[in-house]
Amino acid sequence: MSLFEQFPVSVYNSLSKNKELFKTLVPGRVGMYVCGPTVYSDVHLGNVRTFLSFDIVFRHLQYLGYKVRYVRNITDVGHLVGDADEGEDKIAKRARLEEIEPMEVVQKYTNGFHDVMRLFNITPPSIEPTATGHIVEQIEFIQKIIKNGYAYEVEGSVYFDVKKYNEDHPYGELSGRNVDEMLSNTRDLAGQDQKRNSLDFALWKKAEGGHLMKWPSPWGEGFPGWHLECSVMSTKYLGEKFDIHGGGMDLKFPHHEAEIAQNKGCCSSDDCGGGAQYWIHGNMLTVNDRKMAKSEGNGFTPEELLTGDHKLLERGYSAMTVRFFMLMSHYASTLDFSNEALQAAEKGYKRLMAAVNLVEKLVLAGTGTIDSEKSEKLKATVDKVISDLSDDFNTAKAIAGLFDIASQINNFYHKPAEIVAIDKEAFDYVIKHFKGITFDVLGLVNETEGGQNADLLDGVLDVLIELRKQAKFSKNYALSDKIRDDLKAVGVQIKDEKGGEMSYTID
Ligand code: AMP
Ligand code: ZN
Repeated sequence: MSLFEQFPVSVYNSLSKNKELFKTLVPGRVGMYVCGPTVYSDVHLGNVRTFLSFDIVFRHLQYLGYKVRYVRNITDVGHLVGDADEGEDKIAKRARLEEIEPMEVVQKYTNGFHDVMRLFNITPPSIEPTATGHIVEQIEFIQKIIKNGYAYEVEGSVYFDVKKYNEDHPYGELSGRNVDEMLSNTRDLAGQDQKRNSLDFALWKKAEGGHLMKWPSPWGEGFPGWHLECSVMSTKYLGEKFDIHGGGMDLKFPHHEAEIAQNKGCCSSDDCGGGAQYWIHGNMLTVNDRKMAKSEGNGFTPEELLTGDHKLLERGYSAMTVRFFMLMSHYASTLDFSNEALQAAEKGYKRLMAAVNLVEKLVLAGTGTIDSEKSEKLKATVDKVISDLSDDFNTAKAIAGLFDIASQINNFYHKPAEIVAIDKEAFDYVIKHFKGITFDVLGLVNETEGGQNADLLDGVLDVLIELRKQAKFSKNYALSDKIRDDLKAVGVQIKDEKGGEMSYTID
């Protein structure tokens, strides 16, 4: 029995607005598409949160035994700066400012994005297609939509006809918006007079004047619209119908709504794909309850985070501390940045790594009478963590469960009498999954320094505990109390156990 049968996944589907049992289209296989970055500026920590959320989805599904094809695109055709298909191309604007070619902008920020993903140990996708590499497919897609009567051409630009589409398919099903309301709320078409309706969006835009990134098409030289590439590249690599589509909450409308309309609008029959079965949206990283965004000036880069060189940061934090901080909350909740939360995460991360380091040293004594109830209970703590992850990828609960296991491990190490009653199968099961979940699913890395220091710290503490035992034995209580109190002052709690044994916990 594979793990995905044993721990069935449930997913909160933004489309149905329900938590649903996750059923793949092809048994044992998952196709997942996630909207990637627009490569015209450095990624900030908010972007990292979204890609990390889907890294967990990718990792957990693989851990359960699914074969996952994960497609995450690179948007290298510039979206327009202004809303509603008007304004300057963001990439071209950056090229002008930096006095370099648009494709140099794209390469520079794609490299930067990859560096940041590596820093946070975010797994590369199986396919990373670019919008500029799929212009031909995008043109063909538009032609199909025109043929179906859901798009129209005006002077070299092509627009999606939302009103016409809405006669056959509900537009707004993902975002819960109502087309008639939206139409009555939008006043005019200022500057967008080519559109029949303000809700219509560009599938292809004519390249005006000195527009730099442009391609020939049946409608003249131009470039594809904002939403089109994701419909095209997801269905090209995953099929007309696939399992999961993800992205940040802020992309739900209009981007994802438009994607669904394009997918259905290009179908020649009613039962053709329509795109993803499950839509997953990650929530935002906020600063003082405002979305972290470049335009808000509250978006620090990973480099600033590591060095602490930003007005919002009291000091620097390691990449794994930040990863842990993000995983301590569920992907669907907002996460507010604060120095206090990062400091708490740092402690938590170190505590977990300390347990991982202890695991390497644990040996199953195998001499005692096996307590099967105890063994089963221990196994159940691990099963609970896997179930929590299968329950809509709840990393917050999973981390709480890992801490429970960590204190068990601590217990086993410091009170070896505890471990003799555990049967080998249960012991191996717990260790395998404790490490598997920590490293393979949560994707944490034991930062080298942390790993070595933890070993060193253990050794030093063992020496101090031995000295305290001797002090007590020779009735030098002043010294034994001093060792206990001084250690407490630096965050190590020593506990006296039965029979003169001592254990410790680190805050
Ligand atoms: P962009 O390059 O702006 O298209 O953004 C790339 C991804 O980052 C998208 O999925 C956005 O939803 C996501 N994103 C942007 N800002 C934030 C934020 N503050 N918190 C979480 N995700 C974000
Ligand atoms: Zn997209």
